[in-house]
Amino acid sequence: MSPTPSQSHQPTVKLSPRGATRLKDGHVWVYRSDIVAAEGVPPGAVVTVTDHRGQVLGTALYSSSSQIAIRLISRETVADFPALLRQRVAEAIAYREQIVHDTNAYRVIFSEADFLPGLIVDRYNEILSVQILTQAMDGELVRLALTSELGAKMRPDAIVERVDPKIRLLEELAPRSSGLLSGEKTSAIFTMNGVKFHFDALEGQKTGAFLDQRENYAAAAQYARGEALDVFCYQGGFALHLAARCSRMTAVDSSRPALEVADQNATINGREVEWIEANAFDLLKDYSASGQRYDCIVLDPPAFAKSKRDLDAALRGYKEINLRALKMLRPGGTLVTCSCSYHVSQSDFLEMLAAAARDAHRQLRLLEVRGQAKDHPVLLNIPETAYLKCVISSVSN
Ligand code: SAH
Repeated sequence: MSPTPSQSHQPTVKLSPRGATRLKDGHVWVYRSDIVAAEGVPPGAVVTVTDHRGQVLGTALYSSSSQIAIRLISRETVADFPALLRQRVAEAIAYREQIVHDTNAYRVIFSEADFLPGLIVDRYNEILSVQILTQAMDGELVRLALTSELGAKMRPDAIVERVDPKIRLLEELAPRSSGLLSGEKTSAIFTMNGVKFHFDALEGQKTGAFLDQRENYAAAAQYARGEALDVFCYQGGFALHLAARCSRMTAVDSSRPALEVADQNATINGREVEWIEANAFDLLKDYSASGQRYDCIVLDPPAFAKSKRDLDAALRGYKEINLRALKMLRPGGTLVTCSCSYHVSQSDFLEMLAAAARDAHRQLRLLEVRGQAKDHPVLLNIPETAYLKCVISSVSN
């Protein structure tokens, strides 16, 4: 039976035909420009969504400030959002039990991809790290439901909230600091693919590590040998995986704090890596000009395209570093090249790589075209959930 607005006590938001079509096509976001009426709807409210004729399309979370005004949470009426959240948290945990292996660090909840828009939870062994990205997820009852369900199902030693002040500002939420939501532990050692890493819940960028690359680390390690260079290494994710198979491992990043953790990570794994603090663009330029050669190079830069407008500049940036890396690779060597920019599609990225190979007078044989680890699920009808590209190829003259 199709619910009617009068059955629920929730505020109603009416959409334009274009907004309604977007939901009918499987997406869950509606932009503010497609809202016809939302008078008096409080920030962060759970709302009933209707088309312009008043037909109910489902239940959504409303943001009064974000351009993404509506995030659909169900195509039905939802009477008790905290109860639905508990159920989805439990489902996300159960999904990871099926698909995640060889690690005690992984993404437990990935926002829209786990039907919990605005919520991210990562596990680092005995610590859970929570990020709240929208008004609706910031409500006290929602927070309580989240922490109690996570506590009951996962029994972590601690739950830590990581706050991005920019996001709170955008969502017009009161400032708040990062800190413990339960327990006392704020640092841990976690293991992925048999490699150990330090985690500090209240420092570091992002939520501590790039968990989305976990499966790519293992894939890249299969091909690596000889002398290897990890460019944009952060705390050593690729370098530490590759070091066991390579005769010499060098890794570069511009962040000294990241390299300090990387060095501690090398120590606990008994691996030798030469860490270099440098601007990767300058270093690649100098090394390629001076005739340095490698058997494996990893490129994993930060997102060059933060918005669609940056696409051309981003592709030029990717091409530059890939071209230089290709010139430095010995025949038979391996290039592992990544992009975490959502706005650079997989086909844009492969096209850029093909152009770089032409300019470097090298042939590239694709070994693997990969994406983010499975604990960062991709929903086919929500293209924004797919962002990471990792292309592994073999280089010949
Ligand atoms: N490969 C890493 C993640 C890299 S994130 C892993 O798997 O864990 C991107 C990294 O690029 C960050 O550590 C950041 O400090 C570094 N970075 C950003 N701009 C840089 C530059 N111009 N030169 C060198 N490193 C840079």
